[in-house]
This record gives sequence, structure tokens and C-alpha cells, in this order.
Amino acid sequence: MPADVEDVAKGIEFANERRLPWLAIGLGSNLLVKESGFPGLVIRVGKGLDRFEMKGAIAIVGAGMPTPILARRTAEGGFAGVERFIGIPGTVGGGVYMNAGAHGAEFAEVVTEVSVMDGKGKIRQLARKQISFKYRASNLGDVVVLETKLLLLEEAPAKLKELQGKLLRWRKAGTPFDQPCAGSVFKNPGGAKTAGSLIDECGLKGYAIGGAQVSTMHANYFVNTGTATPSDVLRLIEHVRKTVQKKTGVEFELEVKVIG
Ligand SMILES: Cc1cc2nc3c(=O)[nH]c(=O)nc-3n(C[C@H](O)[C@H](O)[C@H](O)COP(=O)(O)OP(=O)(O)OC[C@H]3O[C@@H](n4cnc5c(N)ncnc54)[C@H](O)[C@@H]3O)c2cc1C
Repeated sequence: MPADVEDVAKGIEFANERRLPWLAIGLGSNLLVKESGFPGLVIRVGKGLDRFEMKGAIAIVGAGMPTPILARRTAEGGFAGVERFIGIPGTVGGGVYMNAGAHGAEFAEVVTEVSVMDGKGKIRQLARKQISFKYRASNLGDVVVLETKLLLLEEAPAKLKELQGKLLRWRKAGTPFDQPCAGSVFKNPGGAKTAGSLIDECGLKGYAIGGAQVSTMHANYFVNTGTATPSDVLRLIEHVRKTVQKKTGVEFELEVKVIG
């Protein structure tokens, strides 16, 4: 858990010297880690790399800042652009790396610059035009995201607060927040139907393998009912993927990142 940017460089140097693979993570909210674990160094970006500063309408944000805090702070300060991310339970670094988004907004729309550390420990400033964002993906590759600049727009705090209240109520009603999960398992396939509605149509809501279950609230969330192992979740993923493919012809792509 690096306390500052120098620590990130030390971590990468440590891994390189020992020829170990390394992996940067944020809050792990999009990860499924296999029983075997990650055979190398995990750099968990959080506190220490969670700077937040507004310069006019530009937010300068450390990768370790939790996205909901960013959404709340900017809204309270009278800036729109990331207010809809209030319920995304990861860090800003993970959000930029994944191009996280919600309710029709995504990081790609507000990012103007990303500061990263590459595999040699060198810091690079990437302008928006050097980065390609896709739906829940970026081409950032093997780097540690350190910081980002976001271009926001002035908006009345009361209006943003009201919207965030509405979005949070909507999420609470449709998300299994009281059970461990890793968010949407599959990416929406792009047609008229979401991954969740396709899984639901195949009669898989509530389907369980071991302790892993397709949430009864939201079919694209697979929850741990208490005793799930990573293998249970992986078997459930395969079962759902194959069933949906057979019944609807739709090929799912994973949104969850499987580690190990
Ligand atoms: C209940 C729930 C609801 C969710 N809702 C949404 C939603 O509405 N929209 C949405 O987009 N996602 C959603 N997610 C998924 C997840 O929260 C997002 O993808 C989030 O942005 C991941 O951030 P993280 O810090 O947890 O990243 P992690 O899960 O730790 O990592 C995700 C990926 O990013 C990489 N990464 C993380 N931090 C860094 C860094 N500093 N530098 C380089 N690479 C890094 C990791 O290597 C990994 O590949 C949800 C998850 C849960 C559990």
C-alpha cells in the first residue's frame, strides 16, 4: 500500500529486481481473485495517493480517492460531470483504468489527462487524445494510474445533491449491497437488452453453484451467500455464459477481472 508516488516506484523496482509480475489495484470492487492468488506484487493504490484539488473547473484527483467521495465533493463544490458516479464503489484510478460509468456517464467524457507510472518506474503524463477508452475498458495497459485531471462544469449544488439522492435510492432498490459481489459480471452486449435482462429471461435469477448465486435482485450481479469459493463463482460464470449463449445466441464478455 504505497504511501506516496515514491513508494510506487520502489514497489515496481522491487518486483523488477526479483522478476515478479506486479498488479495495481484500487478497492478490488471489480475483481475476482482465484484461490491461487496473484503470484507477484500487488500495489494497492489508496490513501496517500488520494489528493483532491479544484483549479477552476478542473479537478486534480489522486488515483486512490474513492469515486463516491469524488462525486460528492465535486457536487458539493458546485461542479457537474462525475455526479452520476456516486454509487460506483471503487477508486478513481480503477474507474479511469476501467472507464467506469453509470447512468449514461463515463470517465472518458471528463478525463483530460492521466498521470501514470510505467513498468520502469517512469512517470508519464498522458493527454486525453493519447488514451483510447471503450465501454468499460481503456488502453492504459501495464501502468499504475497515479492521478488524473477531469474537466467539470459549474452546476448548482442543490440540483446535483437531489440527483445523487435519487440515483442512490434507485441503486439501493436494485443492487444487492448487503452481499459481497464484484459488480456487473458481464458487459452489456450492445443490443436492446442488458446482460441482466438476458440472464433473467433464461430463468437464471437465483441459480446457485456452491455458495455463489445469481442475485435475485439483479441478474448480472453474482453474490457470495456466505461460503462461495472463487471456483464456485467461476463455475457459475461459465454456466450462465453457456446457457445464455445456447438460448439467445448472445456471447457475453466478462466485465469482472479474473486475477490469478
Ligand atoms: C456493488 C457494485 C456496484 C458497481 N457498480 C458499477 C457501476 O455502476 N459502473 C461501473 O462502471 N462499475 C461498477 N462496479 C465495478 C467497479 O466498482 C468499478 O469498475 C470500479 O471503477 C473499480 O475500481 P476499483 O478501484 O475497485 O478497481 P479494482 O477492482 O481494484 O481494479 C479494476 C481494474 O483496474 C485496474 N486498476 C485499479 N486501480 C488501478 C491503478 N491505480 N492503476 C492501474 N490500474 C488500476 C486493476 O488492475 C483492474 O484491472 C460496481 C461494483 C460493485 C461491487
